[in-house]
Amino acid sequence: MKVEFLIIGQGLAGSTLAVELLRRGKSVLVVDRQDAGSSSRVAAGLVTPLTGKGLNPGWRQDEYLTRADAYYRGLEKESGRKFYHQTPVVRLFGTEKEHKKWQGKGASHNRWAHDIERIEGAIKVDHGGIEMPDGAWLDTLVFLQAVKDLLLDAGAWREGHFSQDDVVLEGGQVGWQDVTADQLILCQGAYGLNGVENEGGWFRDVPHRSAKGEILSLWVGGLDETKRYHCHGWLAPRGGGMWKAGANYDWENLNSTPTEAGKAEVLEKLRTWLDEDAVPMEVIEHEAGVRPIIRNSRPVIGFHPEMPNVGFFNGLGSKGSLMAPAVADSFAAFLCGECELDDELALKF
Ligand SMILES: Cc1cc2nc3c(=O)[nH]c(=O)nc-3n(C[C@H](O)[C@H](O)[C@H](O)COP(=O)(O)OP(=O)(O)OC[C@H]3O[C@@H](n4cnc5c(N)ncnc54)[C@H](O)[C@@H]3O)c2cc1C
Repeated sequence: MKVEFLIIGQGLAGSTLAVELLRRGKSVLVVDRQDAGSSSRVAAGLVTPLTGKGLNPGWRQDEYLTRADAYYRGLEKESGRKFYHQTPVVRLFGTEKEHKKWQGKGASHNRWAHDIERIEGAIKVDHGGIEMPDGAWLDTLVFLQAVKDLLLDAGAWREGHFSQDDVVLEGGQVGWQDVTADQLILCQGAYGLNGVENEGGWFRDVPHRSAKGEILSLWVGGLDETKRYHCHGWLAPRGGGMWKAGANYDWENLNSTPTEAGKAEVLEKLRTWLDEDAVPMEVIEHEAGVRPIIRNSRPVIGFHPEMPNVGFFNGLGSKGSLMAPAVADSFAAFLCGECELDDELALKF
């Protein structure tokens, strides 16, 4: 089989890149081994306009959010499936200090959120809050399946395990099993980084600070399901009384094994601001995965310094849903000779 691009990994990175290349008329084969604990399969898919203690917008948020909205909605139409859901986000302040910090923010932040009154009932904290109307979430499992089906229709998807030991680089071509490709692009998420099941990978020298995260599926009674709530941790509605709750950060144990300690941490956070007498909770499912975090949590694209046809798209961090579509578009444009590689995204050893 001869293709222009052999892509390893069908998480958010590989999926968005493959779609962008197909749209540009390129021939592609995506190989994925379907790890149940991959970051994209475990992720809550949340898009949150103001995040963290600092309540700041994401890097290039205006551009990337516009692109993500258009990309997911376009693919929903094309695939006939719904996976991108607009849901306002309520951020409750846990302390008066947090509230004051918000009051000190300027107009650039007010564009993303407005103040809200105290929420009666289930919420225990009383230091005010804000609502972000542009919040959204990507149902990653439905999205990944929609892309897989699209790739299958194009004869561009294969289940399989990739090992770089099986690669032959010769005459400017990449040989792997029965496939010959012009370019090999590794979109392996944390599995492609040093210390995460891949000690000897070609990109082992890329510094990273990846973080394991544990996430719960909960049944929660009596909470308004039209909104998502953030305070210490977050609670995101999935319909019919089901919610996702998360997530912790563990920089030591980079694996996808759920732990009792991780579960307890997520539940403890929720209990600091949710009154369990008013809203009973029951844990239904518990998962874990590793977020691929590189260089200031910014995505990275580029090529191996010694192997010019071995590429890399990784580092989507905690904001893969927001960033993947724009970064994939940028990388595909470069791969098709439409522009230079974006220097701020470029892989540098
Ligand atoms: C608990 C948790 C919560 C998160 N919540 C959010 C959130 O709310 N919002 C958000 O935007 N982001 C969130 N993220 C982060 C987000 O999921 C990641 O940014 C994104 O999924 C990374 O995608 P990726 O394609 O780079 O990697 P992955 O999703 O890991 O995909 C890599 C793919 O490559 C395949 N693969 C790897 N090696 C091989 C090989 N040798 N052969 C064949 N196939 C291979 C794997 O099976 C996998 O399918 C969360 C992550 C976690 C862990």
